[in-house]
Amino acid sequence: MKLLLTFSRRGQKDSGREPVIARVVKETGVLINVEKANIDSTAGEVLIDIPDSDADLVRKHLVDMGVTVRVMENAIVLDEAECIDCGACISICPQEVFSFDDEWRLQVNAARCVLCGRCILACPHSALSQLG
Ligand code: SF4
Ligand code: SF4
Repeated sequence: MKLLLTFSRRGQKDSGREPVIARVVKETGVLINVEKANIDSTAGEVLIDIPDSDADLVRKHLVDMGVTVRVMENAIVLDEAECIDCGACISICPQEVFSFDDEWRLQVNAARCVLCGRCILACPHSALSQLG
């Protein structure tokens, strides 16, 4: 399950420099895969991937630390009626989410998506969108 974490270092309950992810890993024993991170001195946005079975535990710890947690489901959604199988999304995606099948029809492996949004901008037919 992918979780999008947003936090303000000023708003954190503990030390403003607390390493949020490291602390949750230490306290829960859950291995957290960080897929995307955008952090500066005052705030941060981090996309993590964790086993579904650990989601409640991790979420509780994060919320207790003052982190806003959003569950990201169906990260990228393809509108097949709009897709013209042009392949623009295949070339731009850094995660190899898209591919063609044997008949040159677009296939989507959404589990690999890190929500960078590049494919949405690149699609000439507005066939891609992001749900969360
Ligand atoms: S949002 Fe980024 S990672 Fe996800 S499918 Fe689009 S280009 Fe790939
Ligand atoms: S860029 Fe858009 S139209 Fe082209 S293959 Fe990808 S989803 Fe389909």
